[in-house]
Amino acid sequence: MKITIIGTGYVGLVTGVGLSELGHTVYCVDTDEEKIKLLEHGKEPFFEPDLGRLLKKNIKAKRLFFTKSLKDVLNKTSFVFICVGTPQKRNGSADLSYLFEAAEQIKKLSIGGKIIIIKSTVPVATGDKMESILNESNNAHFEVASCPEFLREGRAIYDFFNPDRIVVGSKKYSLCLRILNLFAKIKTHKISVSRETAELIKYASNAYLAAKISFINEIGNICEHVGANVDDVANGMGLDKRINPHFLKAGIGYGGSCFPKDVKALKYLSSDGGYNFRLLRAVIEVNNKQRKLFFNKIKNHFGDLRNKKVALLGLSFKDNTDDIRESAAIDIANNLIKHGAKLYCHDPRAMENAKKVLKKKVEYSACAYDIMDGAEALVIATEWPQFSALDWKRIKKLMKYPIIFDGKNILDKQLLIRLGFKIINMGK
Ligand code: NAD
Repeated sequence: MKITIIGTGYVGLVTGVGLSELGHTVYCVDTDEEKIKLLEHGKEPFFEPDLGRLLKKNIKAKRLFFTKSLKDVLNKTSFVFICVGTPQKRNGSADLSYLFEAAEQIKKLSIGGKIIIIKSTVPVATGDKMESILNESNNAHFEVASCPEFLREGRAIYDFFNPDRIVVGSKKYSLCLRILNLFAKIKTHKISVSRETAELIKYASNAYLAAKISFINEIGNICEHVGANVDDVANGMGLDKRINPHFLKAGIGYGGSCFPKDVKALKYLSSDGGYNFRLLRAVIEVNNKQRKLFFNKIKNHFGDLRNKKVALLGLSFKDNTDDIRESAAIDIANNLIKHGAKLYCHDPRAMENAKKVLKKKVEYSACAYDIMDGAEALVIATEWPQFSALDWKRIKKLMKYPIIFDGKNILDKQLLIRLGFKIINMGK
């Protein structure tokens, strides 16, 4: 099939690369000229494992194309995936301006006969609004469906080929089947539902996962009061198949480009419809509190943070990505800077992005050991697996005071205590 993808961010690019690998001919469009230039040369604009290899492979196979001109490609294709951003507005609702702008462009360039598939995360009834924009003129006829995306950054290519489910929402069952057929080579649960249901499945899934994280963080906070260990509690809970072990890791709370905004958008959607979603309010409140709790542990240790040399491992919002959007690590870095600490940071992938927001107030090093030299404390804020494999004997010699604030509970506490470190965790 011939497919247009509008928006080549994390979702659009992975979808475009994935669909071309499945054998479709895919034209990816983005308004960001720099991004398109990079992509035309087979270079990925952000880090995502295995993305670069598949990108180059499918460009070479002449199944994957990039352009900034929607006009040049739209009428060659019958399926159009919209993957533009839907950021958060000040009031917590989703900003749909990029989405509707894309709809206006499609309307201007084509009279219809196309299947428009919304992959961006959007509030319920957005599909209806898209349909009325696109079919405003009597001649036009566009079909609009919802196909929400569930990929995890850092594992996005794997998730494209191994999703837990593919959800398509439309008024017509036959349209759902045509869209699901694009993914025929992928064996998984395939669900056809109404458009509204598909839109809500995405928000409900993210809100539930966020709730699981806030729940275990609350359990962790109780653990600290009663002398229990949250990792052991989570393990004991997660072995129950009804609960499962995923998303039961206590720490400094969720971040990233999706959970914070999607949870707030669902809260807004609920209150806009006259419903007070109490649980969601608590999820957000707990998450905001969690970062502060962690920062206060560092601050209380020092009393006065001014001119204290602090090493920070991790800047991305999670491991395996360079994405720093809504990263708790960036929040903690900003707080340390604000309180006068001298901050030395290392992240395997996210330093270039972090430099854009933290600017020159921080020293960066490509070598994790360099930032430890003379450090009066080490803070861990992202769960990169390579951090736990560092040479801790060497680090002990480098640091001025061997104290570690492990905000992600990733280090082997007993081992480090034996080496002479003091470890402060979350929920232990
Ligand atoms: P992103 O910001 O990385 O990418 C969006 C891209 O769209 C940008 O490159 C932008 O230049 C482009 N764009 C905007 N308007 C355009 C237009 N009119 N024509 C062409 N290009 C245009 O966003 P993302 O992280 O890929 O997220 C996209 C959507 O998918 C959001 O709704 C998000 O909530 C959802 N989502 C994201 C993830 C994730 O992990 N990032 C996972 C699931 C769902």
